[in-house]
Amino acid sequence: MKIHEYQARELFEKNGIPVPQGYLCKSPEDVRKAAVSIGKPVVVKAQILVAGRGKAGGVKLANDPNEAFNVGSAILGSTIKGIRVTSVLVVEAEKAQKELYLGFTVDRANRAITLISSAEGGVDLEELAKTEPEKIFRKDIDPLMGLHPFEARQASYFVGLSDKSANDFSSICTKIYDIFKSVDADLAESNPLALMANGSLVALDSRITLDDNALFRHKEYDQVDDELSPLEQEAHEADLAFVQLDGDIGIIGNGAGLVMASIDVVAHFGGKPANFLDMGGGSSADSVYRAVKICLEQKNLKAVFVNILGGITKCDDVANGLVRALKESQLKIPITVRMVGTNEEQGRKILSENGIAYMDSMEEAAEAVVKSAYQAK
Ligand code: GDP
Ligand code: MN
Repeated sequence: MKIHEYQARELFEKNGIPVPQGYLCKSPEDVRKAAVSIGKPVVVKAQILVAGRGKAGGVKLANDPNEAFNVGSAILGSTIKGIRVTSVLVVEAEKAQKELYLGFTVDRANRAITLISSAEGGVDLEELAKTEPEKIFRKDIDPLMGLHPFEARQASYFVGLSDKSANDFSSICTKIYDIFKSVDADLAESNPLALMANGSLVALDSRITLDDNALFRHKEYDQVDDELSPLEQEAHEADLAFVQLDGDIGIIGNGAGLVMASIDVVAHFGGKPANFLDMGGGSSADSVYRAVKICLEQKNLKAVFVNILGGITKCDDVANGLVRALKESQLKIPITVRMVGTNEEQGRKILSENGIAYMDSMEEAAEAVVKSAYQAK
């Protein structure tokens, strides 16, 4: 999970990494005030969880408080890469002599944490890795041994630093590594890490993403991801795994594998899945109800496929939740249910009593749902 730049910056600052003076602002007036108290030109930066904000117009320079107000008005409330900006970070505009890259990421294949540095910071590193990989330093750090000082020094010499700058770089390296470990990150980087005219280093951008599997240890960061659509957020809050796709057949199932198989088989018969929705194992009537409601909130649906393999999940629970949701939403599009497994008989009885058809075979059901979606009325 990504955390915001201002949150990553806070961690950098707490750990003694130099960052420009800055304030998080939610209104143009706050931006003006921040610029007044900084007392120098500022950079106004949209706080959205996407990379490449700079190029997309989310990072802008302002020379004085009035200009800062105007830039703040333009960025706040605007939509960048599909995301509405609700807050900006206002920082002292530093004049970098050179923009470097320094970061750590997980290398699963090598079971290591990879230290990465480059003298060509400020640009998209993935792009650089493709075109000029020789400009990137990589070193796998053994997570049990930790980062050795000589490894940090190698990284700093590679980017062309010497003397005090090299020492500072190594020390920032160690600090980012410590942060990486302490928050269970899978990425922690500064891009750019600015080399100033006087040889000092300042982290102008801080980016951290956390390992989702360790989020339970970092509840303070378990926030709503603003890259999610409103419907995806609603599903997240209801503990449902829901991803919107661009088709028109709603897909609901219990278990990620089953839902993916449902998507594949619907696509195989020529259907265009509208979403991935996994209610999870052991779904109760209530979670089925919520899942169906969320699925049906999608616009332009032509049909819905519900694929249930009862194990811990009981078919009668599913049927009850389904009946309740369908009654409430006064469904006007065809629904196809495939339901087998635990309490199948009871579940089917409930569906029959409520006029909902069901099938045994996933293939037949998928074919039927595609036909029902696209047949001429
Ligand atoms: P990103 O595009 O989302 O990675 O956002 P960054 O924070 O990296 O900003 C993009 C670019 O804006 C950087 O590569 C810098 O060139 C520039 N920039 C960011 N902060 C500052 C700053 O404080 N001073 C100056 N002069 N430029 C900055
Ligand atoms: Mn950046």
